[in-house]
Amino acid sequence: MENGHGLDGLSGTPATGANKTTVVMGAGPGGLCSAYVLSKAHRPTMVLEKAPFVGGLARTIKRQTEHGEFKFDIGGHRWFTKNDELNDLFREVVAEELLWVNRISRIYFDGRYVDYPLKISNALKAIGPITSARAVADYGRTRVTHRIKPVKIESMEDAYVDQFGPTLYKLFFQRYSEKVWGLPCDQMSGDWVSQRSKGMSLMTAVKDAVIPSKGKVVSLIDEFMYPRDGFGRFSERMADGITQMGNQIRLGTGVEKVHREGNRVTGLTVSTDAGTEFVEGDNFISSIPLTVLAQIMEPAAPAEVIEAAKKLTFRNIITVNLMLKKRQVTPDTWLYVHDRNILFGRFHEPKNWSPAMVPSDEYTSLVVEYFCSFGDHIWNMTEEQLVEQTVKHLIDDMGFITRDEVIDGFIIRAPRAYPSYVIGYEEPLAKIKAFIDGFENLQIIGRYGTFRYNNTDHSIETGLLAAKNILGEHHDLDQVNADKEYHEIKRVAEPAGTPSRR
Ligand SMILES: Cc1cc2nc3c(=O)[nH]c(=O)nc-3n(C[C@H](O)[C@H](O)[C@H](O)COP(=O)(O)OP(=O)(O)OC[C@H]3O[C@@H](n4cnc5c(N)ncnc54)[C@H](O)[C@@H]3O)c2cc1C
Repeated sequence: MENGHGLDGLSGTPATGANKTTVVMGAGPGGLCSAYVLSKAHRPTMVLEKAPFVGGLARTIKRQTEHGEFKFDIGGHRWFTKNDELNDLFREVVAEELLWVNRISRIYFDGRYVDYPLKISNALKAIGPITSARAVADYGRTRVTHRIKPVKIESMEDAYVDQFGPTLYKLFFQRYSEKVWGLPCDQMSGDWVSQRSKGMSLMTAVKDAVIPSKGKVVSLIDEFMYPRDGFGRFSERMADGITQMGNQIRLGTGVEKVHREGNRVTGLTVSTDAGTEFVEGDNFISSIPLTVLAQIMEPAAPAEVIEAAKKLTFRNIITVNLMLKKRQVTPDTWLYVHDRNILFGRFHEPKNWSPAMVPSDEYTSLVVEYFCSFGDHIWNMTEEQLVEQTVKHLIDDMGFITRDEVIDGFIIRAPRAYPSYVIGYEEPLAKIKAFIDGFENLQIIGRYGTFRYNNTDHSIETGLLAAKNILGEHHDLDQVNADKEYHEIKRVAEPAGTPSRR
C-alpha cells in the first residue's frame, strides 16, 4: 500500500499506551476506522480480515487490460455526512486524492427519465397530465383519510403511500423496492423508508415549490466527495496509517470462533492458510455479520439467540463490471432502472465520478447492480450468463451501447450487502443485541456488524465511537443513524457546512 501526504504525520510511533490490545474483526471502513483512531491514541490494535484485501463492501477493484487499467467500486460509493468530525476524518485520510463530484441521478422507467430523488414538477411532467391529476388526487385522499383515521405505518408500502400517495408509490417506488428486496413491499418494514426519506413527501415537495419558507427542505445533496482512484482508497489509506503507526492488519485471517467466559470475550479462533490459531485480546470490536457472530460463540450462545440469528436475512448484490470502448453512456451519477423486464436495478458510470477510473477519455465503464438472495435464479447465474444478460439489456432494451463497444466484463459477488428489514425483524434483532450487550469488552459496529442499513459514514461513526469508548469515553452506538430526519435533507436555515468545502 502506498504512503500519502495526509498520513505523513502518523509514521513511526510504536503502539504502547495502556498496553491493552484491541482486536478488530473485519477490515471494512468501520473496523479500519476503529483501528485508525486507536492507533492514533497509541493503543496496540490488531485487525483480522478474512479477505485478502481491505475495504469490505466499500473497496475498489482494479482490472488491468491491454487498453490500460479500469477501476470499479462495488456499486458507486458517495461520501456524504452532516457530521463535521467524520468529514474531517475523511478529508484527513483521503487528503490530496480528494475530488468533488456533481450528482445527477435519474430513474429510468418505460423508456423515460425522471430525476432522482423525485423532483415533483419533473416527475409529474414525465407521467403526463392525466396520471399527474390522479397522483395528486389520490395523495389528497390519502392525507384526508389518514388525518380522520390515523393508520399505523408498518410496511414499506404503508410508508411510501403515506408520503407520496398510491399512484406515485406504484410508479416510482414499488418496482425498484421489490427488485432490491426480492419481496413485496407489504412484507418489508417501513423502517427503511423512514431512514431513507423521512421528511420528504409529496406535500413538502409541493409546499416548497409554491411557498418558499424558512427552514424548508430545499434539495438533496447534489455534490459529494470522492477519492480520485475509487472509494476503496479511503480504506486503503486508513490501513496505511494503521500499519505506519506500528499496528497490524492480518489479511486472509477469518474469525471462526469467539470464546467467552462470563461477561467477557477471552479470545478468538482464527483460520489462515497455515491453519487455525488462538488470538488473545483485552477489547474486541466486531464488524463481521451480526448473525454470524451470534452463531460462532464458544460456548454456544443460548438457543433462543441462535434461533433469532437464523431469522434475520440479508440481500446479496452482484455487480457486473463492463469495460467499454466508448466515451460516455449517460451523464448520470446513478441510473435507477425500474422496468421489471430488466433484471438489474441500478448502474453507475465510474468515469462520471472520476476520470482516473478509466485508462483514458476514449474509454468508459459501467458497474451494473443485481440484487439477489442465496440460491435464487440471479445468484445461481454464472459470470458468463450475467455479463451476457447485462450486455443484452443494455443493447436491446435500453439502446445504450453496441456490441462492438464491449471490451470485456466480469462480476463481483457481495453476499450480505443489505440487511433485510422484513416485517418482524426487530424482535430477533433485539434478542441478539441483548445477548451481545451483556459482554463488557465486545462492541459491534458497521453495517452488517449491527444489522443496520448504515452507509459508510454511519459505519465509520460506529467504529469511531467504539474506539473512543475503549479510550474511556461513553457513547451509545445505537444512537448512530437514528436521525429523526432523512440524513440527506439540507435545510436553508442550517448553517453552511453540509458538508463544507474546506
Ligand atoms: C451497492 C452498494 C452501494 C453503496 N453505496 C454507498 C454510498 O454511496 N455511500 C456510502 O456511504 N455507503 C455506501 N454503501 C455502504 C457501505 O458499503 C457500507 O456502509 C460499508 O462498507 C460498511 O462498512 P463495514 O466496515 O461495516 O462493513 P464491510 O465493508 O462489509 O466490511 C466488513 C469486513 O468484515 C470482513 N469479514 C466478514 N466476516 C469475517 C470473519 N469471519 N472474519 C474476519 N473478517 C470478516 C469482510 O470480509 C469485510 O471486509 C453501499 C453499499 C452497497 C452494497
